[in-house]
Amino acid sequence: MSNPMRNGNGNGAHLPPNGPHHPHSPPPVASDNGNAQGPSAPAAPEAVPAPEPDPFAVAPAVCPKCGGVGYFLYDVPVGDPNFGVLMTCGCKQTSKDRRAADDRLRISNLSAFTDKTFETFDARVRGTADAYQAALEYTQTFQGWLVLFGNCGCGKTHLAAAIGNRALQRDMPVIFTVVPDLLDHLRSTFGPSSDVAYDERFETIRSVPLLILDDLGTENTTAWAREKLFQIINHRYNHRLPTIITLNRKLEEIEPRIVSRISDLSLHDGIVSIPAADYRQHGAQASRRRRRT
Ligand SMILES: [Zn+2]
Repeated sequence: MSNPMRNGNGNGAHLPPNGPHHPHSPPPVASDNGNAQGPSAPAAPEAVPAPEPDPFAVAPAVCPKCGGVGYFLYDVPVGDPNFGVLMTCGCKQTSKDRRAADDRLRISNLSAFTDKTFETFDARVRGTADAYQAALEYTQTFQGWLVLFGNCGCGKTHLAAAIGNRALQRDMPVIFTVVPDLLDHLRSTFGPSSDVAYDERFETIRSVPLLILDDLGTENTTAWAREKLFQIINHRYNHRLPTIITLNRKLEEIEPRIVSRISDLSLHDGIVSIPAADYRQHGAQASRRRRRT
């Protein structure tokens, strides 16, 4: 029995690391007579029953708050909103935070764009200032939609990724997805010959706290995939979920149902157009200049 959690009811039931305890089990306590796995922990004179845990009656060699198990219960009376709530101890938080941040980065698709930040964006490139400002302002609240329109290479993807990277810095789950790639995925998953009824990735994208759809309008795909893309956009529209969209096609060239969603000014202050001729080219020239100096 290697479960580090003190379960209290002796049936060996495994407690999920951060889930709520079973409603019919006494709440797990960290502290009645010390650390379960620590042989050096001297036994306290008496066990404290579960409703009144004493988080400090533990061996001094381990975390005094949780006894080394990583979790504790608030010492509050029955009826208190925090009664029975399993809290993660600060000693466990650090490594858990790191793992959670790694997980968020992995699902975000932003690993390849970690250098695309506001700090590395050159807002002096002619035509980019308004979009830069709008993107920066978006990160103050992360609410509503932001729609950036511009030709290929105008810097809109950089700005969209910068928003995503800032969301990650704030521990906000985000998914950055290039629409043609997303459609490839949807086509293979939901094609007429596929019998997939439920796609986890689709569900995650549909409801992630911040979704970035890059390069909407370039897609040339099947009706199935287009329908799925519409479902994602419509779901986020109906639920007012924070969404960034970059467009490289005029609205006339995009599916009318999608246009009606992205043109709704109750979700944003209007589509931000980037007239920059070629931000990427400018960036390349700038970095060549930097390398020379
Ligand atoms: Zn602790």
